[in-house]
Amino acid sequence: MSQQLVIDAHRFVRESRELKGSLELVELPRLHDLLTSVTGSVAFRLKGVSGERGQPRLRLEVNGVLPLSCQRCLGAVEEMLEIDSLLELIPEGSEPTQEELEDDSLDFLPVAGPLDIRELVEDEILLALPVAPRHEACDLPSDAEAGERPNPFAALSGLKGKLN
Ligand SMILES: [Zn+2]
Repeated sequence: MSQQLVIDAHRFVRESRELKGSLELVELPRLHDLLTSVTGSVAFRLKGVSGERGQPRLRLEVNGVLPLSCQRCLGAVEEMLEIDSLLELIPEGSEPTQEELEDDSLDFLPVAGPLDIRELVEDEILLALPVAPRHEACDLPSDAEAGERPNPFAALSGLKGKLN
């Protein structure tokens, strides 16, 4: 059964709490269109931290392997997820200042009331994924390639010559 993962984000930060867990891909429906299979899971770690001036922040790490659908052959492309995000809590509806927006080391998370960790993890994964995943070389049968393979017997006879 899917667990409820809702926190009071500000309290979580105030108490410097940490939460570790995993989410099944089945529980992340907004990813499903991008995947070739929904078996598997991702691991996450959420930590409440404070900035230099006491700004409430969440550090979110997400790790796992996602079978993305290749844009060329529709086969699975394994995407390694290694997300490490720093999110500063801001009141819902408020705009970050220009100075804050230029800071690449963190993102801003408008929070009003309870925060659903499952949705947060899903958001961060969607932001981290490549726009058009594809294999470097698709595993499709190709006659042109087969003709170019070196003949293993030719290589063997070369070896033989050296041995004698
Ligand atoms: Zn492919």
